[in-house]
Amino acid sequence: MLNNYFQHQAHIFDIECNFRCPDDCNAPGCRKADIIVEVTLFDLIRLGRFLTTSVSDLFSQYCHLGLMICEDNIRYKKLLIKMKKPCLFLSGNECVVHDAKPLNCKLFPESYHIMGLLPKLSKNPLFYTFPCLKKPIVISEKRKKALKKLRRMSLLEQALSHAYLFGVPSFIIDEKPLRKKLRRNHPKHRNLSLQDYDNLMNKFLKSYSFIESVMKKMSRLDAESEIKNLFEKLKDRVMMEHLMEKMVRPVVVHRLERNDIKQLKRSLYPPAICFM
Ligand code: SF4
Repeated sequence: MLNNYFQHQAHIFDIECNFRCPDDCNAPGCRKADIIVEVTLFDLIRLGRFLTTSVSDLFSQYCHLGLMICEDNIRYKKLLIKMKKPCLFLSGNECVVHDAKPLNCKLFPESYHIMGLLPKLSKNPLFYTFPCLKKPIVISEKRKKALKKLRRMSLLEQALSHAYLFGVPSFIIDEKPLRKKLRRNHPKHRNLSLQDYDNLMNKFLKSYSFIESVMKKMSRLDAESEIKNLFEKLKDRVMMEHLMEKMVRPVVVHRLERNDIKQLKRSLYPPAICFM
């Protein structure tokens, strides 16, 4: 069943696909540490089948837990699984797992185009060296529909992966205590990078055995029966709708304290101003 799901995704991706990476591209997205490639458990399962490697081995060798800025409120960051950079699947400028690469790799840059985000992206200095963003991207209506479908699949996979590994579909971390500690540790360091946050956050998570618990859950997915259970959940529409809602509007944020993770009831959105 899961193989059919992956084949279905590959079929959707091929619909009226005309995009080709330019020959002069040296794969900056696969190299730059600041460009996040989020991976879901289903990406790891797909890669695992392609490479005949277990999910836990793939995670340990090629991925790590990291943070992404929450666009709705930059005080908060979201925990996710990231590809290590430079990606270890890169050989020269070629992706050696092209046919089984994560959905986020497949969707770039076309999905940004259909979301209307390409102008914003091309103004971001991180993306100045992307030759694919220098020319217009033409996408047929049929392909737009297909890409939207694939993106929705990717979001559902993300929500379920986070719920499975972290207990909630959106694990939001308050960055303020992390920033304070980083400032104390590196007083001369003017610009804190996302890697600084990732390193400190991983240290904290290791000390509370959070990483150990994530690894245990990853190892459970080395058994086909657990993969099947996870896939059954992905097919449960009611449960997935509920997870998606919680992913989009998280109401709990996490604060990493010296000995524990504290949960705080917070909304990422500022309260509406009421004049009455
Ligand atoms: S999986 Fe392939 S496309 Fe994705 S980041 Fe790695 S090398 Fe690049």
